[in-house]
Amino acid sequence: MSADIDIDVLVCGLGPAGASAAAMAAKAGANVLAVERNARPGLPVQCAEFVPMMIGSELFAGDDARVQNIDRMLTFVEDDRADLTPDFRGYMIDRARFDADLVEQARLAGGECRFASPVRTVSPDGAVQLADGTTIRARIVIGADGPHSPVGKAAGLANRELVETRQITVDLLSPHAGTDIFLHPDIVGGYAWLFPKGKVCNLGLGVVAARKQKLKPLLDALHARLVAEGRVGQKIHAHTGGAIPVGGNTGLHAILGETGILLAGDAAGLTNPVTGAGINAAVISGRLAGETAAAIVAGDGEAAQDYVDEIDALFGRSLALALKRRRQLLDLYAQAGTPTAQQMRGGWIAYSQYWQDDDTPAARGLEEARMTA
Ligand SMILES: Cc1cc2nc3c(=O)[nH]c(=O)nc-3n(C[C@H](O)[C@H](O)[C@H](O)COP(=O)(O)OP(=O)(O)OC[C@H]3O[C@@H](n4cnc5c(N)ncnc54)[C@H](O)[C@@H]3O)c2cc1C
Repeated sequence: MSADIDIDVLVCGLGPAGASAAAMAAKAGANVLAVERNARPGLPVQCAEFVPMMIGSELFAGDDARVQNIDRMLTFVEDDRADLTPDFRGYMIDRARFDADLVEQARLAGGECRFASPVRTVSPDGAVQLADGTTIRARIVIGADGPHSPVGKAAGLANRELVETRQITVDLLSPHAGTDIFLHPDIVGGYAWLFPKGKVCNLGLGVVAARKQKLKPLLDALHARLVAEGRVGQKIHAHTGGAIPVGGNTGLHAILGETGILLAGDAAGLTNPVTGAGINAAVISGRLAGETAAAIVAGDGEAAQDYVDEIDALFGRSLALALKRRRQLLDLYAQAGTPTAQQMRGGWIAYSQYWQDDDTPAARGLEEARMTA
């Protein structure tokens, strides 16, 4: 197939992963074109906008994207009083501004960023067709095109497990510096959240895709409860939602024809399967994918494998543990009906049981429940 555009690196998707990839590939000297389906960076926002602080982490985007600091987590298990996790730090961001800042960084580095340019198909020989009929050939295609990644599907590396979400933004009636997490057996394969953003907050939840129809009644009930408690306002300012990959790393590298494929961020399944947090992983993997693409273009035959190894070193253990905890809880639903409060605590990052090895009372409890089911 002849191409309308020949380029070193084509980045599909300009969320945090794609913008970071485009910036790094361009900085390293590659010719970079990035294409995004949406008309504007970061919009519509499909995010609860909390960035947990990682060791040695920075905010990645400009300071103007930071809305407020978070210093603790409160976990509400069913109707129990909240369990406090002090010193659980991070930032609430303005996600639209965060993404726009990253796109600006990509442009400043020399990457061409085109909006309102959806990828329509990715051919088995690696050529990419846009919806306007343009055909693009690239040495490397970076799939940073989110949970339903067309690039990942073409490469045989699609996300297989997704959580569906629903979120509203409402007034927050008194200042709060914690992330509130709500665990309940009705919220199957997920949890509900209240994340404060100054005078408003994001209130939402995620569940296994098969329970998608429960999202609205569950969110309405949580909203009504928090209104009755005097914590949030009745008026809904915004609605959003979207899919979150929860099946772990899809595989990061493939070859289609003569085109190398690298996946990053949600397209690569790097979102944490328990918390759903994926912004940090998107930026970090995007940056590495961009550097890797430029290195391959410059003739480094080992770069793709180095990328795979580095992502595994960075995220492999936490993804594997989260996957295990998620499956342990889902097994309970499959076999026994519903998990107990203690079992739900064992599946959430705020509790020591979550971090312990398999041979622990919590794990044995899960095991016993499984055996008596
Ligand atoms: C409701 C919700 C709440 C969340 N809350 C948090 C949170 O609080 N903290 C956190 O860390 N993570 C959160 N996440 C996850 C987080 O949003 C993602 O992990 C993160 O956005 C991943 O970045 P990405 O660049 O890989 O993918 P995305 O941000 O999804 O970007 C992919 C881009 O690709 C574009 N695209 C898709 N298909 C095509 C196509 N065919 N052609 C061209 N472009 C295309 C999309 O338009 C999009 O802009 C949440 C997710 C959801 C749905």
